[in-house]
Amino acid sequence: MIDSHCHLNDERFDTDIVEVLERAALAGVRRIVVVGYGLESSHKAIEIVHAHSGHQGQGVQLHAVVGISPFEAATWDESTRKELIGLAQDSAVVGLGETGLDYYYQEPLPEIQHKCLIGHLHAAMELNLPLVFHLRDAADDFFRILDHEGYSQGGVLHCFTGDERAMQMGIERGLFVSFSGILTFKKAAELVSVARMTPLEHLLVETDAPYLAPSPLRGKRCEPAHVIHTAQLLADLKGVSFQALEARMESNLARLFPGIDKNT
Ligand SMILES: [Zn+2]
Repeated sequence: MIDSHCHLNDERFDTDIVEVLERAALAGVRRIVVVGYGLESSHKAIEIVHAHSGHQGQGVQLHAVVGISPFEAATWDESTRKELIGLAQDSAVVGLGETGLDYYYQEPLPEIQHKCLIGHLHAAMELNLPLVFHLRDAADDFFRILDHEGYSQGGVLHCFTGDERAMQMGIERGLFVSFSGILTFKKAAELVSVARMTPLEHLLVETDAPYLAPSPLRGKRCEPAHVIHTAQLLADLKGVSFQALEARMESNLARLFPGIDKNT
């Protein structure tokens, strides 16, 4: 199994990351993608990959994604862009992100988020890397910007919570759609129907740990081992065995991030 998106770089994992990785290995999780959301957390994602990939947890492979999230979009400027491009040269890095648009909190202002997103689109095209997208309540602007910039580098809509239309817009552009523990929550009926309609070849699974622990662990600190609960639900929704889903998640992750085989 894989965890396509988590934040082992969050301070909540500072004291027990080795145990967290051992539990992931016991649960059958073989690859974990550690995602940055600002320069500091991106540096930390790379450090964690170098310190722990393949060493602990019976050889769990870790990979880093570096970028500036919509919430930190105001930090995007020329020096941030240069530093990010420098970070992306590290052998641990398989993609850029998380970047995107989030209008839920109405801040930072959309214009500020757009500038940061566009900067990531151009950087990804320059570096030939896929993008990890955070998208919430902003699908129309998001896809309009992708099309306007001519982005066709591939990527994933992480922690997807959109409707069927947003899912289809992503698929039409060749993006993967990744579901988190939110799918297992009681009030997720609409999201469950979107997941059921998402083609297997575009599907991914993640924890977004330390956030969003799936049912029945809801409210606890989430960690990569918990991904199996969401994966089991996805297997049920798609009418395939857990093993078949697992094989599909592993091959989809390798299609999303062509670099993962090079840095293991
Ligand atoms: Zn995240």
